[in-house]
Amino acid sequence: MKKIQSIRGMSDLLPEDSPRWQYLEETVAKLLTGYGYREIRFPILEPTELFKRSIGEVTDIVEKEMYTFDDRNGDSMTLRPEGTAGCVRACEQNGLTHNQIQRLWYQGPMFRYERPQKGRLRQFHQIGVEVFGLEGPDIDAELITMTWRMWQQLGVANVVTLQLNSLGTTESRGRYRNALVEYLQQRKEQLDEDSQRRLLTNPMRILDSKNQEMQLLLNDAPVLHDYLDEESQQHFEKLCELLDAVGVPYQINPRLVRGLDYYGKTVFEWVTDSLGAQGTVCAGGRYNGLVEQLGGKSTPAVGFAMGLERLVLLLDAAGVVPDSIARQLDVYLVVVGDIQVHALQLGETLRTKCPGLRLQNHCGGGSFKSQTKKANKSGAVVALILGEDELARGEVSIKFLREDKPHQTLSITDLVTLINNEILN
Ligand code: ATP
Ligand code: MG
Repeated sequence: MKKIQSIRGMSDLLPEDSPRWQYLEETVAKLLTGYGYREIRFPILEPTELFKRSIGEVTDIVEKEMYTFDDRNGDSMTLRPEGTAGCVRACEQNGLTHNQIQRLWYQGPMFRYERPQKGRLRQFHQIGVEVFGLEGPDIDAELITMTWRMWQQLGVANVVTLQLNSLGTTESRGRYRNALVEYLQQRKEQLDEDSQRRLLTNPMRILDSKNQEMQLLLNDAPVLHDYLDEESQQHFEKLCELLDAVGVPYQINPRLVRGLDYYGKTVFEWVTDSLGAQGTVCAGGRYNGLVEQLGGKSTPAVGFAMGLERLVLLLDAAGVVPDSIARQLDVYLVVVGDIQVHALQLGETLRTKCPGLRLQNHCGGGSFKSQTKKANKSGAVVALILGEDELARGEVSIKFLREDKPHQTLSITDLVTLINNEILN
């Protein structure tokens, strides 16, 4: 019979790869907690309307990337393509944004019907951060500084750069959009197909076209920064000042816009050259209008999301995955003879007396030789050997698998001391 394959662009995470993911997730979660951010979880499936209303009808995501279907009741639902909309919905529904400041984070799978390639999948994973109730540049600076610290902790700070821009208010952006459209209308024949379409629907997206010719064409186009309103300009200047003060390096990129409609004022992206075309590892910005757009009270908000697949690729490319995470086991317990009950008891005793111990009991029998082979392959630091002789003397043999140390035979008490003092710290 033909075997069933996974859906294109949706990958399995195999056990040999999961330590890197756990390392990444744990490092980031710890860092976020250290800045006072709290985790929130919300459904993967939401009413389609939520994404249409928040992300915007004429964005790439809503136009062509969503996994949308009717459930058995005929209601349209969508697998979340990003987290911000669901996070806002959850906060509103549970009264979290009402006159309160919230610093939140979430993680999990997102779904977009895109062309699968390296660093671009149809089921991918993000860690996202959202802050509600703060409108000043100080919180924008905190978010960005936090990401900077994160790159340092992960060991990739030297392969990422920060791009920064301000989109201004809806009004100033509207004025700029008109000027841009006028400029591009005059060069309409030179626009590629994608840009011609966007000229009518979402002209600012032309600014981040990947087509070199479009970028050349934009060289003399009006610049967003010249159209910024006074307040957005001050917000942006203050943000830059704060980043300078803590030493976060950035580049101002006047063509940086984001693919989602809800952004205004600050936008930023962390990009890298190490991953080919899929260079953005973390992206975000301010979205003061979204809560109201979804039916809530006007609430300032700012956030970002990062793609974990790309970050894992980046950790690999930078060669910074620590050795300690490759080692997942401390002890492999080899059992020779028909004494399984004693092996089980010994394992339990050691787990009780050596907190944090990672021990694997050998199961399934086999010769001493074949079991030691398995112990070697397991990644454990030591093999413990329990046979009839040891059992009769109330002892256990220990074999060091990674160091050139003599084989020893110890009482259980001495073994516990050795494990606690030499293996577990
Ligand atoms: P891109 O320009 O690469 O398509 P985007 O602007 O669509 O990214 P966002 O919606 O801002 O991306 O999502 C934030 C981050 O999530 C991205 O910077 C990226 O790291 C990751 N990401 C987005 N789409 C995918 C995908 N299809 N596969 C893997 N990671 C993704
Ligand atoms: Mg995209």
